[in-house]
Amino acid sequence: MPSVTVTVVGGGIAGAMVALYLQRRRVQVTLIDRWQPGHARAASTDYNRVIRAISGRDEFYTRWARDARVRWLELMAETGQNLMYECGALILATEGRCHWEDATSGTFDKVGVPYHRFTPEDMRANFPQFRADEVSYALFEPEAGLLMAHRCVITTIDLFRKEGGIVKRGTVRTDAGERPLLDGRLIEADVIIIATGAWMAEMFPHTIRPISTIMGINVLYTSTPDGSDAFDMENMPCWIDHGQGSFGLPSSEGSGVKAAVVIPNTPIDINNDERLIERQSLNRTRSYIRHRLPGLVGQRVVDSKFSQVILTPDTHFIVDWHPVHENVLLAGGCSGHLFKHGPMFGDFVAGVAMRDYGTADRFKIAGRRRLSPKESPSGR
Ligand SMILES: Cc1cc2nc3c(=O)[nH]c(=O)nc-3n(C[C@H](O)[C@H](O)[C@H](O)COP(=O)(O)OP(=O)(O)OC[C@H]3O[C@@H](n4cnc5c(N)ncnc54)[C@H](O)[C@@H]3O)c2cc1C
Repeated sequence: MPSVTVTVVGGGIAGAMVALYLQRRRVQVTLIDRWQPGHARAASTDYNRVIRAISGRDEFYTRWARDARVRWLELMAETGQNLMYECGALILATEGRCHWEDATSGTFDKVGVPYHRFTPEDMRANFPQFRADEVSYALFEPEAGLLMAHRCVITTIDLFRKEGGIVKRGTVRTDAGERPLLDGRLIEADVIIIATGAWMAEMFPHTIRPISTIMGINVLYTSTPDGSDAFDMENMPCWIDHGQGSFGLPSSEGSGVKAAVVIPNTPIDINNDERLIERQSLNRTRSYIRHRLPGLVGQRVVDSKFSQVILTPDTHFIVDWHPVHENVLLAGGCSGHLFKHGPMFGDFVAGVAMRDYGTADRFKIAGRRRLSPKESPSGR
């Protein structure tokens, strides 16, 4: 019988992966979520998420993304589920805003990530779906792609259960001293890992709220043209268009083409808002599509999502022990890029939780500072 007991709170991609990797260390793990894992309010729940090594000058996340890709491939082989499609990713370096893209190619050369550098003409020839206006050049990462997000979460939870993990429903609250409680009582476990995504800020008003902001993002799914497969993942990559504050994914398993224009500081009430797209975002995204993807003009919106990210000042994740409660480990801080790293994040947090090693400096709660877009792994 395992002698160490761990409770993981939160069944999004962070909690699910942490739980799985701990279970594989022969620890008895219970995962608790207030809603059914895979529910629509979680940041991890959508058709798809981009997986790409592109991270500006940041070698750490570049390497993690490459290693995560291998682990996703292994999980696919193990479960027989279509979790990832390697449709590639294109970053558009637009005039006057190429710092992050320039830094990315330097990091790719150092780490050995395969990529191509396209002139606007090359880009048009390879991916005629995109208009290349104001594009100076584009980087294409062929081994990037997309993860079927909802399926990834459900598959990870299924695997965790199959390997002996326990999944329970419940809402964990904290008292005035930020001690986690379930049904009004202290949780009895050797280690408690809090992986509650954006909800971490309201649970830890003294520790996490001061180093985080929560922002809403609207995404729109647009129909592919009737009878055409030009916008399917077999023919079109994911893309990042920082100059326009946008990113998107091709149609995957019939989802329609996903596009988002990130409007900074979009407010969201993560508990009470209905998850309906806002008129301002709808208009901005439609006008972006007209500008960049002329072949979709006139196509109908077939779906939308309104979800949240919790951002740290430097966009680094949080993996650190609570400053007062020695057995409470905080794990999350999505900053808009955690999904792809899921298996690496889960394995890393499992090792910190078992005190095999300490956390990385970048993941510590203390000493956070805002980075310039040039330094930041996300380019924001
Ligand atoms: C629009 C959008 C696009 C994104 N695109 C990408 C991308 O392309 N690539 C990428 O890598 N990342 C992307 N991200 C980021 C990524 O989706 C998130 O970083 C990741 O999903 C966060 O996972 P999480 O498990 O930390 O949080 P969540 O998925 O939000 O999970 C938290 C869980 O905790 C549970 N919970 C909360 N409070 C409690 C409580 N008190 N008691 C019990 N349970 C509780 C919730 O019910 C929930 O299930 C994107 C995010 C958004 C919103």
